[in-house]
Amino acid sequence: MAETQVLIVGAGPVGLTLALDLGQRGVRCVLIERNETSIQLPKMERCNARTMEIYRRLGIAEKVRDAGLPRSAPMDVFLATSMADLPLARLACPSVAEAKAEIAAHNDGRPLEPYQLISQYTLEPLLRSIVETHPNVTVRFGCELTSFTEERDSVTAHVRTSNGPDETIRTSYLVGCDGGSSTVRKQLGIQLQGEGNIRKLRQALFHCPDLYERIPMGKGRHYHIAEGPIFPFIILQDSARHWTLHAAASSDGEMAQIFKRSLGMPVEFEMLSVNEWTQHLLCAERYGEGRVFIAGDAAHLVIPTGGLGMNTGVGDAIDLSWKLAATLAGWGGPQLLASYEKERRPIGLRNVNASRAAMSGRLSWRAAYHPDIRKNTPEGAAIRAEMASRFDVEQRKVTEILGIEAGYRYVDSPIVWPEPGDGPDPENPHYVPTTWPGARLPHVWQRDRIALHDRMGSGYTLLRLGGKRVDTAKLEGALRATGSPLDVLDIEDDAAREIYGYDLLLVRPDLHIVWRGNQISEDADAIASVATGRAASDELQVNRKSFN
Ligand SMILES: Cc1cc2nc3c(=O)[nH]c(=O)nc-3n(C[C@H](O)[C@H](O)[C@H](O)COP(=O)(O)OP(=O)(O)OC[C@H]3O[C@@H](n4cnc5c(N)ncnc54)[C@H](O)[C@@H]3O)c2cc1C
Repeated sequence: MAETQVLIVGAGPVGLTLALDLGQRGVRCVLIERNETSIQLPKMERCNARTMEIYRRLGIAEKVRDAGLPRSAPMDVFLATSMADLPLARLACPSVAEAKAEIAAHNDGRPLEPYQLISQYTLEPLLRSIVETHPNVTVRFGCELTSFTEERDSVTAHVRTSNGPDETIRTSYLVGCDGGSSTVRKQLGIQLQGEGNIRKLRQALFHCPDLYERIPMGKGRHYHIAEGPIFPFIILQDSARHWTLHAAASSDGEMAQIFKRSLGMPVEFEMLSVNEWTQHLLCAERYGEGRVFIAGDAAHLVIPTGGLGMNTGVGDAIDLSWKLAATLAGWGGPQLLASYEKERRPIGLRNVNASRAAMSGRLSWRAAYHPDIRKNTPEGAAIRAEMASRFDVEQRKVTEILGIEAGYRYVDSPIVWPEPGDGPDPENPHYVPTTWPGARLPHVWQRDRIALHDRMGSGYTLLRLGGKRVDTAKLEGALRATGSPLDVLDIEDDAAREIYGYDLLLVRPDLHIVWRGNQISEDADAIASVATGRAASDELQVNRKSFN
């Protein structure tokens, strides 16, 4: 029987990201995928800022950008009556190159990386090619999990292979990254809660090599066509030669007609595929049981409006990975793995809600549609103006949600030191840098222009800021006594002290903040216990006065 430390089921973007992070952390894992090849159909097309920060930390951000839409390509979002017309409304979104220049020019805590447009059918094979070369990871396509049994110290997985006999794999932990119809979730008897089967849409992929250069309103990534009740939505794919169309069409064949009508000008195209997909707003009631966990679409299903599907799943993978590694290495306490659900399920629920808000924003400008919209009359002009002004407000609920993407905070986590008060609004769609425990460490440029994120190691980091040389021996000793990896970084730059607001920060391997303060109090042992999951924060008799 094959044996491994972690068995990952499903080589979608979430399973692949988890495999890469575990591999880099020295964990042996097997990644099984029931299909013979990576996905061929278009699905997601935008990695958000936080996912790109994660890919930077994994050392693959520039590879992802090289494979994606060119850095200089505009990312604008348009509303128009056809691709051949002038826009009714345009939301300007910077190209990656422009966004990077803005990030380089500011030191105000904004995220280190901007988004990247890359089609899922490009991203998955790229991640696969990287993961397959990692010595700690075994990737097996054509290998389907059929069931598993959990014992006290291990899990035995039963797999069906496409070119050989059935097999069993014994593993210390099993993670179901096996998508919306997750076998793992179903076997655990975990229900999805929320709104399922909201609406069916069709998606078609077109090869249309001349279109990008010929759009009078200009280059962008999303083109919403003001034609009710089907509302064609045309999305640029990463080659800039392929496009997808989403529409409430009644048949596959109708998709080509809708595309042709939406173009509004003679352009050659070939329809490569059509598939139906269903909108859901669902979150699993639990994220695992015992030695078995679920992540990504297996745990939450959102409407892609706002791009919170894969991106939320990548966040799950990064939260779970270091906890598995720490537990397997022996220094992680029991609260670490228990905290996975406590940290990530609230984010799953929050992002389901953000996706609902994004979708209702879209529906609200669509409600201004009237069949006279194209008419060259005062009524037609008024309809166009109303729809454009609503679009300008409501569509931003889809495109301007950096706070949801990068500002998530693990409120009430058992492995984060509790501070009195409520902290900043964890639902804020606008990103506000904060070091409130549980938040992701804001990005700061140092004097030498190196990003502080790039100096952080793979374990805990104790940041000593402002050049005050506070004696941190007690906390360092307490953390080292747990056997956990710790770096201590003295950062003298004023910018970091100003943005972070404290002299000391204890940061976890996933760059979320455990604790902040200006001196090490008598709580040093308790902080180390909470950080490493030996004790839950709410179990400790915390002397709240000694925080600062
Ligand atoms: C039209 C559309 C547009 C989207 N746009 C975006 C976007 O812009 N941004 C975004 O973040 N998200 C977007 N999404 C959502 C995104 O595609 C999903 O959230 C993402 O694919 C989830 O990744 P995953 O790895 O969790 O699951 P999946 O991608 O579903 O991968 C699961 C894998 O597990 C395999 N598997 C299943 N069962 C088994 C088994 N028993 N044994 C072995 N293997 C198994 C499957 O074959 C599959 O390869 C979009 C989705 C759609 C439909």
